[in-house]
Amino acid sequence: MAVHIDEDECIGCGTCEELCPEVFKLDPDKEKAEVIMPEGGPQDLIEEAIDSCPASCIYQDD
Ligand code: SF4
Repeated sequence: MAVHIDEDECIGCGTCEELCPEVFKLDPDKEKAEVIMPEGGPQDLIEEAIDSCPASCIYQDD
């Protein structure tokens, strides 16, 4: 499953990177998170990041 972030909605809080640094990385210049491993990673941590994102801007699809 592919992981995406809606960067327009991201507030750069860093929660996703804290939870799952294998997949998410905060870009300090843009103050937005980006997906560094779109093909996925630890599914439980990705789901935790999705559930924890305050902007609800992390998506996963097939
Ligand atoms: S948890 Fe959501 S709002 Fe926070 S940096 Fe990650 S994608 Fe952006």
